[in-house]
Amino acid sequence: MKIDGHTRLAAVIAKPIKHSISPFIHNLAYDLTEINAVYVAWEIDREDLQQSIENIRRYDMLGANISMPYKQEVLQYLDGIDQSAQLIDSVNTIVNQNGSLIGYNTDGYGFFRSLPDFDVKDKTITVLGAGGAASAIIGQAAIEGAAKIHAFDRSLILEQTKVKIDQLASRVGQDIFLHSVEDEEALKTSIAQSALVVNATGVGMDGKSLPIPSQFVFPEHILVADLTYNPAETPFLRLAREQGLQTTNGFGMLFHQAKKAFELMTGKTMPSEEVWASLLEEIKK
Ligand code: NAP
Repeated sequence: MKIDGHTRLAAVIAKPIKHSISPFIHNLAYDLTEINAVYVAWEIDREDLQQSIENIRRYDMLGANISMPYKQEVLQYLDGIDQSAQLIDSVNTIVNQNGSLIGYNTDGYGFFRSLPDFDVKDKTITVLGAGGAASAIIGQAAIEGAAKIHAFDRSLILEQTKVKIDQLASRVGQDIFLHSVEDEEALKTSIAQSALVVNATGVGMDGKSLPIPSQFVFPEHILVADLTYNPAETPFLRLAREQGLQTTNGFGMLFHQAKKAFELMTGKTMPSEEVWASLLEEIKK
């Protein structure tokens, strides 16, 4: 695509962000859909966040993605937020709607779209971890009508997490049952009731660690997901696969949150198959 006087800009804003795969996804999608735009990564310090957000309007950008550590802080600089961002209290996508900056959160949406043949409506789910990604999944599960949601965090920080989880529960209008991950009985009971268990702790990125006991036996027919995609199979997923269960890593979530963000910013549908195939190649490099 030729850059000219009409080229629009989009960016991912975070720190650190130079390693991000988002520019690859969005620029490829612009090319394939013939959108005259360029997507770049802005690694900025906290004191430059407000100005950076104002620049989206100032330079008539398509919008921006927001990543760690600015997903909450950015809320105060926006003109409006949609239901997902409001419930989750976190924004990962800003759309410039004719000079109005509207915040969305496509992380939880992307996660549920990435699951094979799974509808969370009326299902019980267990989420390991209670950080940003876990909150996005919990919020989206509530939006999509989950029956019951269990969350597990380390007992060390459980009191602190409880305040945050109670606030999330009151926003989504649903009980969220918070337990300590060291409580093996609660872990067993919650997972036994669940149709889906998600590792949103990041534990296993080293290829060695597990967020649950290594002898843990999953119930039959549960779907086991991990948000990590590098390594492609964490020890958590390996344990589940060895028990004959269906597993899914975080690669699909990465793709689907970007797809939704692209569609919100451009109003066009992302050519999924082509982008997915190229992304698989790119990630192997
Ligand atoms: P985060 O905000 O740091 O959350 C991690 C949470 O897990 C924290 O609540 C943490 O507690 C808790 N935790 C850590 N070790 C634990 C353990 N052994 N047992 C139970 N809980 C534990 O990070 P995040 O942004 O949510 O990201 C979490 C993971 O998801 C990362 O691996 C990230 O790369 C991945 N992710 C993937 C995608 C994707 O598109 N695939 C998108 C977003 C995130 P403490 O506060 O005590 O550490």
